[in-house]
Amino acid sequence: MQGTVYKSTGSWYTVKTEEGSFYECRIKGKFRIKGIKSTNPVAVGDIVTFDLKEIGDEKVAVITDITERKNYIIRKSVNLSKQTHIIAANLDQVFLLVTLNNPPTFTSFIDRFLVTAEAYDIPVVLLFNKMDVYNDQEMAEIDYLVQLYKDIGYHCIDIAAKEGVNVEMVKELMVDKTSMFAGHSGVGKSTLVNALEPGLKLKTAEISEQHLQGQHTTTFAEMYDLSFEARIIDTPGIKGFGIVDMEKDEVGDYFPEFFKLKSECKFNNCLHLDEPKCAIKNALENDNISWSRYRSYVQMITGEDENYRVDIYK
Ligand code: GDP
Ligand code: ZN
Repeated sequence: MQGTVYKSTGSWYTVKTEEGSFYECRIKGKFRIKGIKSTNPVAVGDIVTFDLKEIGDEKVAVITDITERKNYIIRKSVNLSKQTHIIAANLDQVFLLVTLNNPPTFTSFIDRFLVTAEAYDIPVVLLFNKMDVYNDQEMAEIDYLVQLYKDIGYHCIDIAAKEGVNVEMVKELMVDKTSMFAGHSGVGKSTLVNALEPGLKLKTAEISEQHLQGQHTTTFAEMYDLSFEARIIDTPGIKGFGIVDMEKDEVGDYFPEFFKLKSECKFNNCLHLDEPKCAIKNALENDNISWSRYRSYVQMITGEDENYRVDIYK
């Protein structure tokens, strides 16, 4: 039988078949998949094959195979073990919620997020939220950002989750797809999800409350079916994803507007810093590439961390 993993506890995996039945599956001790070494061999979003096996006088569903992942997002633990945990697999898109203030979302955060999504091959839609609160000057700033990211090719939508403004547009994009919502705490993820599907509560909100009580929390992603043929993956405590083990000369390839021009640089290994006849620096001088994007790029490749790894998981 085949199905999609909706939930995992680390030892049990809830799998939904195409017919809509749920099975609690297990994996066998030595079960490992090729490619990536992780603490969890199976993740939410994985498409798996499983068998019903007789163990003693019990029938147990055992996962026997995983269909190759279209994409996946991982988290590396910050402690010495540096273990990799697959948060979710087979995402069709991620919505990144952005607010100008309360809380501020800086372009450096947006750009890191976009670079990682490009590297993982996950389409991003930028949702500029809280449109109801901005004054003229702030609106001009939002318009500037929207134009900037639209020009690069990203889908951008202005919304006001609390007022329901343009929520229908988000809904339309979600039909028949698996989506995830990301963004700083307080940008309006729970509010938006509630506007999309009244009654569904993201765990993100609960997590911060638990933290205040000093409780230890383990974060496991979970998939939900929404009433309009859409699926959503809730990833408690994760506001974005970080850049893991990316080579310096790879970063520029994930800035689409840089990538388009890079064959015109004099050196094919150009890092677009101080090299002569650099097409990216040239475009920057001619205002064809934005300074904020370039600044984010430089920050990313000259960052302190040896792996150019940025933690945005907190
Ligand atoms: P989350 O941490 O990303 O899940 O953010 P929440 O959904 O909890 O929202 C944080 C705060 O922002 C709450 O007080 C919401 O009512 C408020 N909020 C969310 N969306 C909007 C919006 O479109 N306009 C306004 N004015 N406030 C909003
Ligand atoms: Zn260059």
